[in-house]
Amino acid sequence: RQELYRELRTKPSKSKDGVHVDLLINAGLMVDLPQLAEAGAGGIGLFRTELQFMVASTFPRAEAQEGLYRDVLDAAQGKPVTFRTIDIGGDKVLPYFKNTAHEENPALGWRAIRLTLDRPGLLRSQVRALLKAAGGRELKLMLPMVTELAEIAQAREIIDREVRHLSRFAHLLPTSLKVGAMVEVPSLLWQLDELMKSVDFVSVGSNDLFQFVMATDRGNTQLSDRFDPLSVPFLRVLKHIADAGRRNHTPVTLCGELAGKPISAMALIGLGYRSISMSPAAIGPVKAMLTELPVNEIKAFLEDNLGGPRVDLPMRGLLQTFADDR
Ligand code: PEP
Ligand code: MG
Repeated sequence: RQELYRELRTKPSKSKDGVHVDLLINAGLMVDLPQLAEAGAGGIGLFRTELQFMVASTFPRAEAQEGLYRDVLDAAQGKPVTFRTIDIGGDKVLPYFKNTAHEENPALGWRAIRLTLDRPGLLRSQVRALLKAAGGRELKLMLPMVTELAEIAQAREIIDREVRHLSRFAHLLPTSLKVGAMVEVPSLLWQLDELMKSVDFVSVGSNDLFQFVMATDRGNTQLSDRFDPLSVPFLRVLKHIADAGRRNHTPVTLCGELAGKPISAMALIGLGYRSISMSPAAIGPVKAMLTELPVNEIKAFLEDNLGGPRVDLPMRGLLQTFADDR
């Protein structure tokens, strides 16, 4: 298998019937970067910037942030990188930055974009570091845990202000700046068209989206086998997002754990996803699946099953059988 994955590294990322799918990696620290070439991935679909904050003993200084982002872009050698603004709070606590309020439900609490909009200095300095590091190159910025569109507008104001500030001081700006949102809070599912008109791209955070749609703590092992992301209702949710992306001509990626398992990656591709981001070790197995996959067949298979009257179909088993029969 390892042999096969190595061979696939330089092969095009295409299905059996010639459909291109971007296979990207999730990363968060410089140590992850060599994996980009080793795995033969198309880029970094999710760079978790909070990792630098989590391994530090105090807030990383602006220069340290800029340095990391520059190193990441250098190491990516022109492959696209999507930087997510810090997603702290919830399960990601910083020892030097305590939320003084008691939170009964931290996953639903003061975290990610909620926190950075309340502490705009944090977002401002991070955005400035990113803009400077990406001077003369492309920059993709992604906002985590967006719940309503006003948060995007507020973040954009901060971003625009930093752009104006840097251009006033004659800094080299990014050649293009794209701003995207994570789709991981269910409220966005009923405003996808409006969302997609207000961002350049979206990325589904299936870990959190599943947690919130199923009201199931993603870290609770007692519940880990209880509900299935490959169930009809959740697959319908994922299809709803892919369809909205197509309708609005908005690029859609999925960057949760789902993307890294061949069987679920197969389902995602069948639902219309053409870009998925996963842990580097998953690229080989997922690419092996992709090269054998007739996309038209999996698409028709999913349309038949998800559009029918039965919401209790054992989709995981059916998908496995589909894969085994090819
Ligand atoms: C997710 O929620 O699926 C995601 C990719 O982000 P994180 O796992 O960092 O919350
Ligand atoms: Mg998340």
